[in-house]
Amino acid sequence: MMKSQTWTIFLLSCLLYPQPVISKKVTYYGDQVLKITPKTPTQSLYLQALTRQWRLDLWKPDSVEDIYMDREIHVRVPSTYVQHMKENLDQQKVPFKIMIEDVQKLIDNSLASRSRTKAISLETYDYDVYHPMDEIYEWMEQIKDKHSDVVSHHLLGNTYEERTIEYFKVGLPSKKTKKVIVMDCGIHAREWISVAYCQWFVKEILAKYKSDALLNKLLKQVDFYIVPVLNVDGYIYSWTNDRLWRKNRSPQNGTCFGVDLNRNFDVKWGELGASTNCLDVTFCGPSAASELETKGIVRLVEQHKPNILMYFSMHAYAQLILLPYGYTMQPSENHDEMDKVAKEAVAKLKLVHDSTYYVGPASHILYSTSGTSGDWAADIGIKFSYSYELRDEGEYGFELPADEIQPTCEETFASMLSMFEYIDKQYLGPLDDDDKDDDDDDDDDDDNDGNGAVAITSLWINMLLSFAVCIYCALIN
Ligand code: ZN
Ligand code: ZN
Repeated sequence: MMKSQTWTIFLLSCLLYPQPVISKKVTYYGDQVLKITPKTPTQSLYLQALTRQWRLDLWKPDSVEDIYMDREIHVRVPSTYVQHMKENLDQQKVPFKIMIEDVQKLIDNSLASRSRTKAISLETYDYDVYHPMDEIYEWMEQIKDKHSDVVSHHLLGNTYEERTIEYFKVGLPSKKTKKVIVMDCGIHAREWISVAYCQWFVKEILAKYKSDALLNKLLKQVDFYIVPVLNVDGYIYSWTNDRLWRKNRSPQNGTCFGVDLNRNFDVKWGELGASTNCLDVTFCGPSAASELETKGIVRLVEQHKPNILMYFSMHAYAQLILLPYGYTMQPSENHDEMDKVAKEAVAKLKLVHDSTYYVGPASHILYSTSGTSGDWAADIGIKFSYSYELRDEGEYGFELPADEIQPTCEETFASMLSMFEYIDKQYLGPLDDDDKDDDDDDDDDDDNDGNGAVAITSLWINMLLSFAVCIYCALIN
């Protein structure tokens, strides 16, 4: 009698507290990334068909329909297909080169260079290595503790896997309404350099705002809202299970996972350069703004909309500064000004390490996209919306070696400073006397840490209960 009751409880607990699925780590031994340039319309169609049929992982462009004649594509070919693929390309006389000989080797090398000592203090935090999420959470805590006079940190929302998405507000107190600049990083999980840049950016402005006149004035007149990792679940998954994961981790109709957050925004959602098939890397989700991460950004932006002057979305790779729009060839209302500012910025960028970046609307210089955060921000009226595609141009792609983090961040920061100089001249005006001696605390506190704490607690309870059930299960067997 007792026995059957306990069994019922056990079964119930199993249903209520599902055991974490221990998923296998994806490896890429022998996979190659090929650079292929179709030379005729027939070859383009052939490549499209092959990519679809074998579900190849396109690194450039994002979606199959954007494979065009005379435009180089980068595609990862699984080891089992490599030989066959090359034979096919030779047969069809499609020119190709090998970009990456062995994807897994490159992944292993890049992680081997990482020192295994866990970052514990800000003083020793390495900005030129890639950091896993737990270190970034820890870093955020320490940043806001150390710089509590200029930094506060807040909850953007929770992810599907019940982790917190956090952001910084960086700015000095002011009696006047401040302008706002928003930056999202890590919207695509595998683009680690984007996440590294956000950390660099925060470090840099905090280190320099006291001595640098421009940054000092900026922090008095502008609040930066910086999301170092938007796609937290995806980012973690790219560390633990699949280095080349791009989407978030929300389950779709029971069989597959993940929505491409940069196709999920409510701007011509699902129309161009986005897939409605969950197996694809550009899957736009079941509906516009369906994802928690998207909702978080929308909430933050709506809240500060009248004051937001700039929106940045950070990506890799291609070395581009993209202007709106991806969904139409039509220029945005503010196109000429945005274009001018970005072109000055890439000129400044080039001076640092001689990198070449191109500027233009995504639909012109990249490919068609819809549902991106950059286009969404532009369409709701934010004057300057830029999406960066950071290094490189196609040597390592998503596997950008750690020793390129610092130069990438330095040049990118220089380009942003150039934009801020312009913004300062045209939109900020001189400082008031009020702002010169700031002692007044502003208390527009939208810190929702309470909710975050609750979420974390419930996650722990859930895990502890699962654990208890496990032990129980082992004991009665
Ligand atoms: Zn906080
Ligand atoms: Zn991206």
